[in-house]
Amino acid sequence: MNKQITIVGAGLVGALLGTLLAQRGFAVTLFERRPDPRTTGFLGGRSINLALAERGWHGLRLAGLAETLQPLAVMMRGRMVHARDGSTNLQRYGRDDSEVIWSINRGSLNMALLDAAEAAGAKIHFGQRLTNVDWDSATLQLADEAGAAHMHQATTMIGADGAGSALRSAMAQTIDLLERFDPLDHGYKELEIPSRDGSFAMEPNALHIWPRGNYMCIALPNAEGSFTVTLFLPNRGDPSFDSVNSAAAAHALFTRDFADALALIPDLEHDFMHNPTGILGTLYLQHWHLDGRALLVGDAAHAIVPFHGQGMNCGFEDAVELAGLLEADGDDMGAVFAEFEKRRKPNANAIAAMALENYVEMRDSVADAHFLLMRTLERELAQRHPGRFVPRYWMVTFSRVPYTLAFERGEIQTAILRDLTAGKTELAEIDLAQADRLIEQRLPLLHV
Ligand SMILES: Cc1cc2nc3c(=O)[nH]c(=O)nc-3n(C[C@H](O)[C@H](O)[C@H](O)COP(=O)(O)OP(=O)(O)OC[C@H]3O[C@@H](n4cnc5c(N)ncnc54)[C@H](O)[C@@H]3O)c2cc1C
Repeated sequence: MNKQITIVGAGLVGALLGTLLAQRGFAVTLFERRPDPRTTGFLGGRSINLALAERGWHGLRLAGLAETLQPLAVMMRGRMVHARDGSTNLQRYGRDDSEVIWSINRGSLNMALLDAAEAAGAKIHFGQRLTNVDWDSATLQLADEAGAAHMHQATTMIGADGAGSALRSAMAQTIDLLERFDPLDHGYKELEIPSRDGSFAMEPNALHIWPRGNYMCIALPNAEGSFTVTLFLPNRGDPSFDSVNSAAAAHALFTRDFADALALIPDLEHDFMHNPTGILGTLYLQHWHLDGRALLVGDAAHAIVPFHGQGMNCGFEDAVELAGLLEADGDDMGAVFAEFEKRRKPNANAIAAMALENYVEMRDSVADAHFLLMRTLERELAQRHPGRFVPRYWMVTFSRVPYTLAFERGEIQTAILRDLTAGKTELAEIDLAQADRLIEQRLPLLHV
């Protein structure tokens, strides 16, 4: 087999997909807008580090990269919740250190994936930005960094060019993709807690959260000892990116709401004023492909808000699914793309919904006594009914059960938890016999 596949975008998903397809004998060509990060340094973009979970690791294992990347990743055992008074409380994600998530640097991950794609035989052209597609002649129109135009013929194009996908825009000239972008009325800004002479200024093995109701800060560790802090604020109102619009206002916000973090962020004022404010939202498309000619994957098809730390993980699952389908039947691209869309779109919609819900949980509920009672009961029921009452976070993060199933079972479980905890303040008050009955009735065994 030597079928040609052209991928637009050699970011996280494009580079993994390129690797998996080249390993399966496809002749893969990638076009990437940015220069080669391995020679010029990584030019940032969105979020400096990312939470990597089981779905992401699975894709990296298939690409043969798990051993290379494991030493670069920092274990996060749970949420370290910072109260206003500076006290902290670790809420573990799982039962032990096999149920954790990992913080990894986006640049290092992307560079390892580029190495793997090339080693598998993919050809990557850097500094080549897709500007348009001539569908009649099946030609990609590209521009290099000096603006010079290049043409590339391609019968099969895959768009892994992110939320602002140029391939998506080109496809939309031919078919109505029924695209909808739901902006979140909150944005984000990245700040830094530097390392203290090579060691961490806070507990390294946790995802730190400062929940403040309608807004929050989080911090993820970097392997060399620093933390990347992300402030999420509404775009309007008080406080918001609109009202906190000077170095002094940023300092005042942190003094009031994030005092323990402020003490660790020496460049707060500078970074707040110079780092861009990122926009967030959810992208929905009715159609992900143009017959057998073009398909969208990763953020280009389904960008989501980052509050479940699953955007990349979900995109990696796309890459694994698509590589499997193409390997099984690479002759009928139209059928493969339709099947891919049928399998992945409901899952993308499910994680999009769960990611939106998780924002409320992170910024607000984690500090709420009733929520904590529900979490305690959830653990108790998970222990009493292994394989039947399985926390949604576990299904999304530590397993590869379809997101749709995690969502559906999660709804049932939340309803059970709400019923059982209504009007209660502690675990001892809960009718566990009733809990057992509800679970037996409503939750079939989950086959992981
Ligand atoms: C603040 C924030 C935090 C996040 N945290 C997490 C997390 O913890 N865990 C997680 O799983 N996900 C997280 N995500 C989501 C994650 O960043 C994305 O889901 C992931 O980057 C998607 O990968 P991608 O390859 O589809 O797109 P991208 O990473 O956007 O890559 C697209 C690539 O295409 C290139 N490109 C763009 N346009 C063109 C063009 N016209 N021609 C050629 N090349 C082009 C770009 O240069 C880039 O290299 C976060 C996102 C944000 C915003």
